[in-house]
Amino acid sequence: MPNLGFKFRRDIRALNRRAREWRMIFKGVASTDHPVMAHIIPIRRCNLACTYCNEYDDVSKPVAVDIMLERLDQLAALGTNIVTFSGGEPLLHPQLDQLISHVRRRGIIAGMITNGYLLTAQRVQQLNDAGLDHMQISIDNVMPDDVSKKSLKVLDKKLQILAEHALFHVNINSVLGGGIHNPDDALVVGKRALELGFTSTVGIIHDDGGQLKPIGERERSVFLAMKEFEKKNFSQINYFQNNIAHGKPSNWRCRAGARYLYICEDGLVHYCSQQRGFPAKPLAEYTVADIRREYLTQKDCAPFCTVSCVHQISYMDFWRDPQTIPSTAPDTSASLVQIQSNGR
Ligand code: SF4
Ligand code: SF4
Repeated sequence: MPNLGFKFRRDIRALNRRAREWRMIFKGVASTDHPVMAHIIPIRRCNLACTYCNEYDDVSKPVAVDIMLERLDQLAALGTNIVTFSGGEPLLHPQLDQLISHVRRRGIIAGMITNGYLLTAQRVQQLNDAGLDHMQISIDNVMPDDVSKKSLKVLDKKLQILAEHALFHVNINSVLGGGIHNPDDALVVGKRALELGFTSTVGIIHDDGGQLKPIGERERSVFLAMKEFEKKNFSQINYFQNNIAHGKPSNWRCRAGARYLYICEDGLVHYCSQQRGFPAKPLAEYTVADIRREYLTQKDCAPFCTVSCVHQISYMDFWRDPQTIPSTAPDTSASLVQIQSNGR
């Protein structure tokens, strides 16, 4: 069990983090000319091979640290508030801590999304020292199966290490739909997360059968039960997931390319992990003119989109600035779309 000194330090870090998050919200409401969040890929390689995943390979080398630092500086110059390291598996990048420290030195909130396999007490301590603010781990099932090894059985020890040593915020995301065999697993994972003092969110993976379909009755009831877990999370402004759960379109303005950026390992800006290829402009050349254009560009894929982090970020501007520029990206709403969260 964590001792009182540790709890005190963790609480102080949480207060400091919340103060910076409130600053991020005020700045975001005051101006629409900067990205609120960027996901950046320091390495495409992953140590796992989940069958539903289209975001990894098993060969890529880490992006060189000086190139990563330049990209982070460019995100800082654009006024980005939150940078989340994703992948692939970001812990495979040998200089990840240096990158996290750099983000914090530039006044940016630092997050990461990991499968958790490489975490040890020492590694968690190093992430504390680097100044990590948020970590998200997705757990897909209770027992590993042919679809995913991101299982509570395998990762529970890692979660206990985090509960004992992490000074940063930890969110456990569990997933419903797609190839996940037992919907009740999400509930087990969510309960365990809360028991350990973490927050818990739920996502939905869609079948890749061509058409968007509502999830089954059992999954829907698990989903609604999980939403109760999320009430404590201020970031969970994801009512749109209720529409997705019922197979209904959502009416929202996706601000990807403006308020949210996805930076791939080649340093190109994309709308999101599921819309790579648009606008695919080098980050080094990305300017406020691009942000302003994309802010006003409609995304045809929006009604059935389940990329929750972009939705949450876009919510900041839901009340203003209708999008008047026609979409340039194809409508892929009927294909596989995976919910992502933002590391909160
Ligand atoms: S879902 Fe995550 S852990 Fe699984 S293969 Fe993709 S990047 Fe790796
Ligand atoms: S898939 Fe979702 S987040 Fe990505 S561009 Fe389309 S609407 Fe936006």
